[in-house]
Amino acid sequence: MEVRCKHCRKDLFNEASVELLTSHGEIKRSLMDVGCITNNPEPCSYISIDRMPGWIEQVVNQESWTKGRLHCSHCNNRIGSFNFINVLRCDCNKFVTHPIRIINSKVDIVYDTK
Ligand SMILES: [Zn+2]
Ligand SMILES: [Zn+2]
Repeated sequence: MEVRCKHCRKDLFNEASVELLTSHGEIKRSLMDVGCITNNPEPCSYISIDRMPGWIEQVVNQESWTKGRLHCSHCNNRIGSFNFINVLRCDCNKFVTHPIRIINSKVDIVYDTK
């Protein structure tokens, strides 16, 4: 699976271990996997902190593990955010979401067709 910035079309994560999670903490298997059944116009994908890419860890460290925005490391377009301060829940309120979120409309998620 590759995640590319929609703006500059470059890879955002080159670590093979990065997995996008739904708001219910399940590994996304397709673009339609979002977690809750929701009408939210801006569904997000989540990244577990155990598997966060190095560049995201740097940004999080810079903000002292509080909260902030994530930008594409190539073109600086905003692609998501992180929040270690508040406990955020998914739209149906059943699950606590992971602190790092990627806005699906800002990226292209390319699944291996193998
Ligand atoms: Zn939910
Ligand atoms: Zn970009």
